[in-house]
Amino acid sequence: MIDSEKYASAVVVSRRDFAPDLWVIRVKPETELPFRPGQYVTIGLPRNGRVIERPYSICSSPTEEAIELFIERVPDGELSTPLYELQVGAEMVVRRRTKGLFLRDAPVTGQPHVFVATVTGIAPFVSYLRTLAGKARNGEPAPDPVMALQGASRSEELGYAEELRALDAEFDWFTYVPTVSRPWEDPGWDGELGRVEDVLRKHADSAGVRPGHGGVFLCGHPGMIATARAIMRRRGLSDKEIREEQYWPD
Ligand SMILES: Cc1cc2nc3c(=O)[nH]c(=O)nc-3n(C[C@H](O)[C@H](O)[C@H](O)COP(=O)(O)OP(=O)(O)OC[C@H]3O[C@@H](n4cnc5c(N)ncnc54)[C@H](O)[C@@H]3O)c2cc1C
Repeated sequence: MIDSEKYASAVVVSRRDFAPDLWVIRVKPETELPFRPGQYVTIGLPRNGRVIERPYSICSSPTEEAIELFIERVPDGELSTPLYELQVGAEMVVRRRTKGLFLRDAPVTGQPHVFVATVTGIAPFVSYLRTLAGKARNGEPAPDPVMALQGASRSEELGYAEELRALDAEFDWFTYVPTVSRPWEDPGWDGELGRVEDVLRKHADSAGVRPGHGGVFLCGHPGMIATARAIMRRRGLSDKEIREEQYWPD
């Protein structure tokens, strides 16, 4: 029996597959689910008398009707494996409260910031950028400079690359830098090379991030976060200037 005070049901309204094991779904909960860009929703599937649930960062902007999620299927993952089977029309449950403090302090007015993501770690930044873009299109003043660095093994895993390239072309305040770490498996790729943490320092410098001026926001793989944090600490940034959302434990 599902606790209806805790959970609402939600229906998958669309699905887009990017690469093997990487896909985007849009889900419509039966209830309002208010959130801020940068927050996550906990979704679940009932299995054997209990709900298997995990948090997922929200990609959509709060003004959109559906909740959009960018998900990676983890080998033998307890939830991501059955989630991968869900097609349009399938049902799941969502916790009625969204959570998370990531990006709560962005933007730091008058200062540049760099968003750093591994693959699905781009999700909270997409929500934030869609929201900023919506405001800019409505005539609000241009926000402070934002750069998004997104790393993947191959370019097919760079979900949202097209959307982010279009934002980069539309707005002076936004720069998108995708980077690929296995170019030998991706012969057509002519963009940035290396893991996102390998190219972070030079791009953060070029964005104007320095101690006491701007900050970096790291999201996704725990190994990337640990390395990127150490690199930015060596650059002189304080803990307050380095924010992180880690998707699983080290
Ligand atoms: C705040 C927050 C936001 C998150 N947002 C997203 C998101 O937007 N998209 C997304 O796909 N996931 C996201 N995650 C991870 C997600 O919650 C699950 O951990 C993931 O889907 C695996 O769940 P599972 O039940 O399939 O695997 P489990 O059976 O729980 O885990 C198996 C093991 O796989 C490892 N693992 C977990 N995730 C990954 C991964 N992506 N790659 C490699 N190994 C992994 C861990 O070591 C874990 O112990 C987020 C996690 C947190 C804490």
